[in-house]
Amino acid sequence: MTAEPDDGKSPALAGDVRCDVCVVGGGYTGLWTALEILRRAPGTDIVLIDADVCGGGASGANAGYVMPMWARFDSLVAISDHAEARRLGEASERAVDEILDFVDEHGIDAEYRRGPWMWAASSEAQRGAWNTTLENLARAGVEPLRELSPDQSRRAVGTPSHYGAVVDAHCATLQPAKLVRGMRRVALDKGVRIHEHTPLSGLRRENGATLAVTPHSTIRADRVVLAINAWAGQLQELADRMVTVASDTVLTVPMPERLDAIGWRDATSVCDARKRLNYYRTTTDGRLLFGKGGVGLGPGNSGAGTMWGGALRPAEVRRQFLRLFPDLRDVPVDMMWTAPVEYAVTSVPFAGRLRSVPGVFYATGYSGDGVGPSRLMAKVLASLVLGTDDEWSGSALARTPGGAIPGEPVRYAGSRMALAAQQVLEGREDQGAFVPKAVKRLVSVDPSAFRR
Ligand SMILES: Cc1cc2nc3c(=O)[nH]c(=O)nc-3n(C[C@H](O)[C@H](O)[C@H](O)COP(=O)(O)OP(=O)(O)OC[C@H]3O[C@@H](n4cnc5c(N)ncnc54)[C@H](O)[C@@H]3O)c2cc1C
Repeated sequence: MTAEPDDGKSPALAGDVRCDVCVVGGGYTGLWTALEILRRAPGTDIVLIDADVCGGGASGANAGYVMPMWARFDSLVAISDHAEARRLGEASERAVDEILDFVDEHGIDAEYRRGPWMWAASSEAQRGAWNTTLENLARAGVEPLRELSPDQSRRAVGTPSHYGAVVDAHCATLQPAKLVRGMRRVALDKGVRIHEHTPLSGLRRENGATLAVTPHSTIRADRVVLAINAWAGQLQELADRMVTVASDTVLTVPMPERLDAIGWRDATSVCDARKRLNYYRTTTDGRLLFGKGGVGLGPGNSGAGTMWGGALRPAEVRRQFLRLFPDLRDVPVDMMWTAPVEYAVTSVPFAGRLRSVPGVFYATGYSGDGVGPSRLMAKVLASLVLGTDDEWSGSALARTPGGAIPGEPVRYAGSRMALAAQQVLEGREDQGAFVPKAVKRLVSVDPSAFRR
C-alpha cells in the first residue's frame, strides 16, 4: 500500500470542520459503515479519518478469507440462542455474496475466487474439534458444514498432515488490500470526505455535538463511529473485554506448477483447529500464503500499534509450513509480515455506544474473522448511528459483553504464560506425545475465560 501513488484525494485534515457523522478508521468496518449510512440516508455528510491510510490496519494485511460465521456458531449461541445464531449465520453467508457483488459492481480488481473453506485437524488431537459446532448447527436446523474423511482432507490441498476436516462451501478468498482500497475509491466517489494521516487524539462533548480532536483540527459531528479494531483496546471501557496478539503471515514466490504437483488446484482455504491456528491458501498467481496466529503480544494498550513489521517467529512458521507441505521445502519465501488480531471475550465481534462520551459508537472484537463479518457490523453501526430500531440494532452483535481481563502487569504476564503453554501443547500434540495436565489447564485460560 505504501507503494501506491498518492492520488491527493484524502489529504491530512488541517482546520476545523463540521459534519453529520465522523467515522474514525478506514478499514472495512469504517468504509462499509460510511457506505451503508449513505445507502440508507443519502446526503448524510460523512468525514472519515484514519491515522494511517485506508487499509493501513488489519484490512490491508489479512489473509483474505471471506467466510460466513458458521464456524463461530457455538460463540453466537453463547451470546444469544440457536434461532438468533442461525439468523446471524445466514446473514453472514449473504454478506459473502454482497461483498463479491460489490467488487463486481464497482470493478475492483480484488482477485477474488470462490472456493470452500476447510477447518482441518492438522494433528490427531484436533480430530473432531468441530463436533460441538456440528451439534449446535443441527439443533438450529442448518447444515452449512460438510465432513471430509482424513484422506479427502489430505488430497484436497496436497498435505500429508491432515486427519479429517469439515468444509463450508460458501466462501471465497481475495487480495485484502485491493478490496479496502477499492472501497475507499467508491466511498470517495459517493462523497465521503476522507482524510488519511489524521489520527484521533481525543473526544469530547460540547453543546450537543461530539468533537473529534486531531493534531491539526477539530471535527464537530452529530455522531462519531470508532472503527479502530484492535486499537479499541486503548479505550478504558473496552480494555477488559479484549486481548490483542500478533499473527505472522508468509507468502512464497509464485509456483503454480508446484501447487499443481501436490494436487492443490482450486481456491480451497484452510484453518487448522489448534488455538494458535495455522492458516494456508493459494493465490491467483500460484503462491502459497501461510500464517500462524498467537505469535506474540505487546504490553499494555499500545499492542495494536506495535505489532507491525516483519514476522515475529519466522522459524516457527517455517516448521509448521514444512510439517504441512514437506514437498515445498525448497520454495523461497517472497515476503512476510506480522499484524495484530484482537480477541474478544466472546470470540465474536460486538458493537455498542461509548458510555464516557455521548454520541460515540464502536465495533470491534472480530477475533481474527472480520472480512465477511465487518459487513454485518456496518449494518449494526448504521442502525445505531441513524437511531433505527431494527434487527441490527436489536441483534446479539449490538451488545457489549461484560469482561474482566486483568490490567497490566498481570495481563501481559498471564497472556505470555498462556501463549507459551499453547506452544508446548502444540509441539507435543504434533508429535502425538503426552500433554501434562498443568499445560492443559493453562491453555484453557483464553479471553473467553474472562467473560462476565
Ligand atoms: C494477519 C491477519 C490475518 C487475518 N486474516 C483474516 C482472514 O483471512 N479473514 C477474515 O475474515 N479476517 C481476517 N483477519 C481479521 C480482519 O483483517 C479484521 O477483523 C478486519 O480487517 C477488521 O477491519 P476493521 O476495519 O475493523 O479494522 P482495521 O482494518 O484494523 O482498521 C482500523 C483502522 O483504524 C485506524 N486507527 C486506529 N487508531 C486510530 C486513531 N486514533 N485515529 C484514526 N484512525 C485510527 C487504523 O489506522 C486502521 O486503518 C486477519 C487479521 C490479521 C491481522
